[in-house]
Amino acid sequence: MTTEQPRFEEEDAVGLPVVPASAETYDSEADVIVAARHVADNVLRPNAEDVDTAKGPRKENFEALAQAGLLGLAVPRKFGGLDVSGVTQRQVTEILASACGATTFIQAQHHGPCRMIAACQSELLKTTLLPRLATGQLMCAISFAHLRRIGTPVLAATRVDGGYLLNGTTPWVTGWGIMNQVVFGATLPDDRFVYVWVPGNREDFPQLFQHIRPYNGKWGSLVASDPLKLAVMNSTSTVELTCTDLYVPDDYVLSFSDRETMQRNDRNGVLGAAAMPIGCAAGSISLLCDIAVKRNIPAISRSAELLAQELTDLRRTAYDFKPGVTGTQQDAINLRAHLIQFAMRAAHAAVAASSGAAIYANNPAQRLLREAMFYTVQAQTREVMDSLLTLLEPNSKTDD
Ligand SMILES: Cc1cc2nc3c(=O)[nH]c(=O)nc-3n(C[C@H](O)[C@H](O)[C@H](O)COP(=O)(O)OP(=O)(O)OC[C@H]3O[C@@H](n4cnc5c(N)ncnc54)[C@H](O)[C@@H]3O)c2cc1C
Repeated sequence: MTTEQPRFEEEDAVGLPVVPASAETYDSEADVIVAARHVADNVLRPNAEDVDTAKGPRKENFEALAQAGLLGLAVPRKFGGLDVSGVTQRQVTEILASACGATTFIQAQHHGPCRMIAACQSELLKTTLLPRLATGQLMCAISFAHLRRIGTPVLAATRVDGGYLLNGTTPWVTGWGIMNQVVFGATLPDDRFVYVWVPGNREDFPQLFQHIRPYNGKWGSLVASDPLKLAVMNSTSTVELTCTDLYVPDDYVLSFSDRETMQRNDRNGVLGAAAMPIGCAAGSISLLCDIAVKRNIPAISRSAELLAQELTDLRRTAYDFKPGVTGTQQDAINLRAHLIQFAMRAAHAAVAASSGAAIYANNPAQRLLREAMFYTVQAQTREVMDSLLTLLEPNSKTDD
């Protein structure tokens, strides 16, 4: 970035451009996809190895995403977002994931909270946050995967006068630092779930707190761990967040849910997580093609060709999947497992074709293989785990 790049407002928490693209910038969603490809090819992919070994998110990547309006994909247009269709969002995710897994995962975590805030009852929260979440001036983290765990709640919510007290340590919160707020899922005493919005520092949002008095005069605390040391996605600033009697006023309760609804949504949306492994596989195959040009070894071009054909088929099957029409719910779960295995295979092929050089820490093939490993567990449900382990059994029947 040069000094001619967009200027940031002093109070801009994450230092992102103030005047990014908006819905008016684009004639159609096809143009949004073109913009995503431009960012992936020109900003994300050339820096992916540096990002892989960096201590935290690369600010320039997020500036580029914000400038293209891509951090507002899930924000309604009336709040300055692009509000694109699910199909476009999936394509954008795939394109970004083919270039840089860490950046893709961080930006992906931001879209869910944007949607949840847009659907909440509080006009104050919506009008205060959404325009800045759309432009990338602010980014929001999400912490809810722990709700899938069985047994003692990871994060408990207790009803008190005017709101809830949160207690517990949530295990995975990606993007902390570049994100200065989080949507938590917490478990109520009757086992239902409550989703709440919480700022990292209330002082950053005076307009949201000047009219609220804390419970018994105390706000409680929210403490972040140091970034977790990870084998992949290490630069995503993934932390644990510990809440101790953290008071969340009713105004910032977004919604309620329960385990059955979450399980139903997990099943219905099992292919929602397909775009990242598909993008990772596409990145590996593209790398394989590059290697095939440089090394005149017939097996590499053959592998690239066969994997590219398989990618086309799997992508079509996954994106056209209609539960009850093109297959059963179990077929969708098996397809997700198959995509995870495919991303691993494609990256593994890129490693094999790179020979010893694959083991250099800055080699893209090994990065893609580790990213595929991450997609093995990301948004994992017990059913996805079951299906993948079955697929990996010797003589697996789901591997037909
Ligand atoms: C680098 C990284 C970043 C992440 N970032 C985020 C984030 O920003 N926000 C977020 O919400 N999540 C995040 N996650 C969580 C991620 O989605 C989880 O890895 C995934 O949901 C699996 O959860 P888990 O590893 O905690 O496993 P678990 O929850 O322990 O297990 C996974 C599944 O198996 C089931 N299960 C486990 N044990 C049993 C049992 N004995 N009987 C029956 N079922 C069982 C669980 O119910 C669950 O459905 C991140 C993970 C990683 C690795």
